[in-house]
Amino acid sequence: MKIVVLGAGVIGVTSAWYLSQDGHDVTVIDRQPQAGLETSFANGGQISVSHAEPWANPGAPAKILKWLGREDAPLLFRLRADPKQWGWGLQFLLECLPARTQRNTLTILRLGLYSRERLKALRRETGLQYDHLESGILQIHTDPGEFEAAHGRVALLRSHGCEMQVKSMAQCLELEPALRASRLALIGGTFAPDDESGDAHQFTGNLAELCRLRGVHFGYEHSIEALQVEGDAVIGAMLRDPDGQRSVMRADAFLVALGSYSPFVLGPAGIRVPVYPVKGYSVTVPVVRPEAAPILCLSDETKKTAISRLGNRLRAAGTAELAGYDTSLNSARCNAILARLEQLFPGAGDYAGAQRWAGLRPATPSNVPLVGRTRYRNLFLNTGHGTLGWTLACGSGRAAADLMGGRRPEVDFPFC
Ligand SMILES: Cc1cc2nc3c(=O)[nH]c(=O)nc-3n(C[C@H](O)[C@H](O)[C@H](O)COP(=O)(O)OP(=O)(O)OC[C@H]3O[C@@H](n4cnc5c(N)ncnc54)[C@H](O)[C@@H]3O)c2cc1C
Repeated sequence: MKIVVLGAGVIGVTSAWYLSQDGHDVTVIDRQPQAGLETSFANGGQISVSHAEPWANPGAPAKILKWLGREDAPLLFRLRADPKQWGWGLQFLLECLPARTQRNTLTILRLGLYSRERLKALRRETGLQYDHLESGILQIHTDPGEFEAAHGRVALLRSHGCEMQVKSMAQCLELEPALRASRLALIGGTFAPDDESGDAHQFTGNLAELCRLRGVHFGYEHSIEALQVEGDAVIGAMLRDPDGQRSVMRADAFLVALGSYSPFVLGPAGIRVPVYPVKGYSVTVPVVRPEAAPILCLSDETKKTAISRLGNRLRAAGTAELAGYDTSLNSARCNAILARLEQLFPGAGDYAGAQRWAGLRPATPSNVPLVGRTRYRNLFLNTGHGTLGWTLACGSGRAAADLMGGRRPEVDFPFC
């Protein structure tokens, strides 16, 4: 089958990989000059199945109210006159109901466990390198109430197949000796030994190159303007090149993996998807004193920040802001992440030389991605991965390829 994948982020490229492995003739289209230059560019780097619990959980509404208007809040709703934002926000509140949170957590967990296995298999097959670490993720706490709540989460995740352990502060220091110099009052942690980390941008770029060597075509610097539909099928994607020239790309089937921008291409074809951008930031610093820098991937649970050691770099990423499609850097939010990283690992990195970045998570209110078919028989979705797109990429890419090939995916998931 001739298949066009729309979007060359981590989701589009992993999908293209599995589709080409299945023997399809695959073309990937993206407006950028390379793969992985938008949200997959400088994310937290975590393959964190242990973070299956979505942001929409019973504790979220009180926190959002407490943080409303605070510039450095980990989760910030900037209320706008945008009905899509309000609709998304109301749906988010609904997903905070305990039963919904539990269902969403377990759904994401199943896809996460499957995805991590697929990632390991892909690494075995290809030897792909991307500054990855396979030494687990340590979630550290400074807030006693949140640490207590984490115990319950550990029990739930463990009973559903995700290995996790509660750690005393002494055990945390054994696992990550660099925390001894921390200026924060840490109280303990939870450890997910099978979680991983790595540079999602390197992964996406290197996998795109492997795809190219296998015969996948990449049409970069082409904007997708619309889908051409006829009856119950999509017959083409309307593209525009940098010179403004328009063309139509025809194929037997199409997969939409356009991240936060998926609704703009799907909406005019009559398909509404509850994907809204949730902005986050990262800072990346060169490691200057390796002995002071972490050897593990960590999560600062109180500030909802991921901290990854990516080769000789240290990255901290986090915060969530509903602010539409604005990708400008907010220095208060970036500086809050940077200051926290420096407090945790004083002297480890060149903090003055930090590279700052902002990206838009393509989030559904439940954080459960949209993978599967649409009402057009040859149009498929792989989008809406929110906070966990890098974690869920290989599993949802494999599953999307299975569905497009008419096979039942191996993972139990509510496919569209
Ligand atoms: C601060 C931050 C930290 C994060 N940390 C983690 C983490 O630690 N672990 C984790 O699992 N996830 C993390 N995430 C989430 C993860 O990065 C995303 O879920 C993932 O990158 C989404 O991938 P994607 O391919 O769907 O989107 P993208 O990477 O944005 O790809 C979409 C592609 O579509 C293209 N495109 C869009 N519209 C058009 C158009 N009209 N025409 C042509 N091309 C178009 C874009 O150029 C882009 O390349 C984080 C996100 C942020 C912002």
